[in-house]
Amino acid sequence: MPPEKHALLSASSASRWLVCTAAPRFEEGLPESISTYAKEGRLAHAIAELKVLKKFTAAVTPGAYATRLNKLKKEELYDPEMDKTTDLYLDHLVEQAMLYDSAPTVAAEVKVDFGEYVPEGFGTCDCVMIGCDTLSITDYKHGKGVPVSAVDNPQMRLYALGALKRYVPVFGDTIKKVRMTIDQPRLDSYTSDIITVEELKAWGESIKPIAQKAFSGLGEFVPGEHCRFCRGKAQCRARAKVNTALEDFKDCVPMSKATPEQLAQAEEDGRDGIPTHLLSDAEIGDLLIRGQQLVQWYKDLEEYATKALLDGKPIEGWKLVAGRSNRTFTDQDAAIKAVIAAGYDEALVYDRKPKTLSELEKLMGKAEFAEKIGSFVVKPLGKPALALATDKREAYNPAASDFAGVVQE
Ligand code: SF4
Repeated sequence: MPPEKHALLSASSASRWLVCTAAPRFEEGLPESISTYAKEGRLAHAIAELKVLKKFTAAVTPGAYATRLNKLKKEELYDPEMDKTTDLYLDHLVEQAMLYDSAPTVAAEVKVDFGEYVPEGFGTCDCVMIGCDTLSITDYKHGKGVPVSAVDNPQMRLYALGALKRYVPVFGDTIKKVRMTIDQPRLDSYTSDIITVEELKAWGESIKPIAQKAFSGLGEFVPGEHCRFCRGKAQCRARAKVNTALEDFKDCVPMSKATPEQLAQAEEDGRDGIPTHLLSDAEIGDLLIRGQQLVQWYKDLEEYATKALLDGKPIEGWKLVAGRSNRTFTDQDAAIKAVIAAGYDEALVYDRKPKTLSELEKLMGKAEFAEKIGSFVVKPLGKPALALATDKREAYNPAASDFAGVVQE
């Protein structure tokens, strides 16, 4: 598969450059490396595209489909899971097509141009459907790191603006609504957002000045969660400043070690008896959030330094050493045979273990698994874990743990 060309202000990085307008030009000057995950994603996309073309269009004959699919399956990064996840994606597209009163027009891997809103902006929609008054775009995501929601998603909105530009000349103003969907089958995450064409265009107008600033190279560095996928995440000074600002709290002492003077000062400051040098609960909440960024930043620095040292670039004060490893047989079958030949009973040499719940579900398929052994499945309440207040999961309810073991998924 040839390397993909990306716009400076790509749709996939929009959630970053819409906040940190300095990022695109900063990243531009840094070397790009394509991760194995990205390569796997591209292969899965190629399989998905082929399946969409076969299902919805006459662009691929059955013979050509089989030949092309077999060729993709011979790629080094091919995993049978890709076949399953792209099937799920296809099933979901079929469901979406059935939402239309009559069969919609369907196209796969559609090149779109949203340069009217974002300088030199272009990209590719994985699937576009048009029928009645609705244009529908769907993005397949092969990653299983974090679920990505389609709601208020700038990447999807930019693709949608590009798709409108492409299809309005054909379908005219019959298109009144846009449905944007993100399918992430490996995370069982399927989300959609629907807005009117007017709302979408108004949003496009609202981001124009931001896009201009990001393109011009006069943008500002604004660190945040979006740094995670930035090419400059390890070297960015603005991000380093935010994280080293935790220094502000370096003089804090535990409550038990506060001096009478500090306690008296806190009283005077009206901080509910909390000394200036102690953290309030609000500060702890804030620090926990900033600490998450700090941990991620430190990991990024480690990753950067490891790569630099592997590439022969010195990082002062650091070197690479061999990590821990476990002993292993060069030929396990031959080793086991030798153990049995030495007089040990086979029953002592082998463990007979049942397959795990997930392995059995994979073996039987979801439907048969649910029918035959679903009644044996329970999902106990997990241990309480700290999460951000904005987390979509329900707050932990200790009373619910009384029913642990009878909660069924
Ligand atoms: S690391 Fe963060 S702050 Fe720095 S350029 Fe990238 S997105 Fe902006």
